[in-house]
Amino acid sequence: MEKQDRNLLWRAGSFAQYALSAPHAIVLGGTIIALLLVSLCATVLYESRQDALDRARETSRNLGLVAERDIKRNFELYDLSLQAVIQGLQRPDVMAAPPALRRGVLFDHAMTAQFLGSMLVMDAAGNVILDSINDLPRKGNFADRAYFTVHRDHPDVGLYVSDPFASRLRGGTPSIALTRRISNPDGSFGGIVVIAINLDYFHQLFAGLKLGPHGSMSLISKDGIMIMRQPFDMRIIGRNISQAATFRRFRSAPEGSFSETASIDGVRRLYYFKNLPDVPLIIMVAEAEQDIYAAWRTRALVIGSLTGALGLGLVLLSILLSLQLRRRMRAESQLQMLARTDGLTGLNNRRTLGEILEQEWRRARRTRSTFSLLFVDIDRFKAYNDTYGHQAGDDALAAVAQCISGNLRRPADTAARYGGEEFVVVLPDTSRTGAVQIAERIRVAISELAIEHAGSEYGRVTASIGTASCIPEQDSDVSTVIRAADEALYNAKTAGRNTVAAFVLS
Ligand code: GH3
Ligand code: MG
Ligand code: MG
Repeated sequence: MEKQDRNLLWRAGSFAQYALSAPHAIVLGGTIIALLLVSLCATVLYESRQDALDRARETSRNLGLVAERDIKRNFELYDLSLQAVIQGLQRPDVMAAPPALRRGVLFDHAMTAQFLGSMLVMDAAGNVILDSINDLPRKGNFADRAYFTVHRDHPDVGLYVSDPFASRLRGGTPSIALTRRISNPDGSFGGIVVIAINLDYFHQLFAGLKLGPHGSMSLISKDGIMIMRQPFDMRIIGRNISQAATFRRFRSAPEGSFSETASIDGVRRLYYFKNLPDVPLIIMVAEAEQDIYAAWRTRALVIGSLTGALGLGLVLLSILLSLQLRRRMRAESQLQMLARTDGLTGLNNRRTLGEILEQEWRRARRTRSTFSLLFVDIDRFKAYNDTYGHQAGDDALAAVAQCISGNLRRPADTAARYGGEEFVVVLPDTSRTGAVQIAERIRVAISELAIEHAGSEYGRVTASIGTASCIPEQDSDVSTVIRAADEALYNAKTAGRNTVAAFVLS
């Protein structure tokens, strides 16, 4: 492997180690738990919001159903009355009876119903000929009303439900009419029977159904004419909403629900609609989303903010914990460093040197590379101590140590204090010549420190250096090299000191 690649790998590895170090893992873990907590809460809240919507949909459906049943029951009753009148008209005995009796027979039970206006029979020209209230019919011609013309022009309409109108006979009371055609025996148009229903009936019906403060409920004809609306507003009654987008949706299916923002007031509502099966009417129940979600919103606010605070607290706590842990780890690594270094010189101590030697020796043996070692010993140091004192001796030792490590260039080169005024430099993957060169560089550098030393033949602090280099054999021991370097050092001393001597092992 190229050295560059190895460096890259080493860097990537150390990054992974950094990212996954305990303090980072704590913050990461805390954040993940907090996120899980928040998303769990969000899911639960979202689901309870859906529940609120489902409940509202159910409520709207039920309200619609209640209204539908009531309307259907009443309309059936009215229709029966209309049909009873038509049948009565065809009985000669009834028609021959005195007016009061005839009235009693024709317009029976339904006439007592609440909200019912009057019941009239009109001839083919639209004139009132029989009246449920008076023996002498009230005067009036209604040939212009749609409920009249529709039967005149189309024989097969059956029960017809009119648009809202202001009753002419009852002082303008807002009403709708239910009508049926009277056919002559030959099938030609013979007139109509009419029942007028006060819109008050629907008004009361809707008022009894509770919908929340912003809800609304409407009864609309299938042509889009508004028959009743709750909250009640007279101006809306009779309005044509057939062009509104919501109305078009009401007509798209027999029954259904959807959410939409009303163009009238900008309120978003959940609409439920049903096209009544037997009468041309649509019931619409709309509950405002603000009402549907009111209780949910309060709950979500409380639970959401509590969970948010909890999650935030968790993250903050894990950050605090990680900071604490990082501080401890730093203190620990400082302690470890202290245990590995020599207090006076700051170089590796003897114990660490042992580890480094073992490690580098094994590596050299594996890679079959040249392993070199320098043994450095300060010259006449005893004399230095004697002349300048122990404290000055310590200072000189530290200066020399600095000088040695300062002259090492490659990261793998390491200097250590062997003991006393002796140092060892480990030079992995360094040739004999290289080692001698480095030794020479160190020797010159120490001498150039120019620390005065009267007891030395050179007048300054100098050092002698022994070097040893070898390619380790499979069963060889590092102590061999140390001994060889020591021996080379001895040679350097005897050669006059302040020199470098090399020992070649193999
Ligand atoms: P040479 O090596 O040139 O033969 O002479 P030397 O005087 O250096 O010889 P030797 O190794 O016998 O003496 C080592 C001296 O180094 C002994 C001691 O006074 C001094 N020394 C050893 N350790 C320390 C230390 O930590 N501080 C100080 N100030 N002096 C030390
Ligand atoms: Mg010595
Ligand atoms: Mg010495």
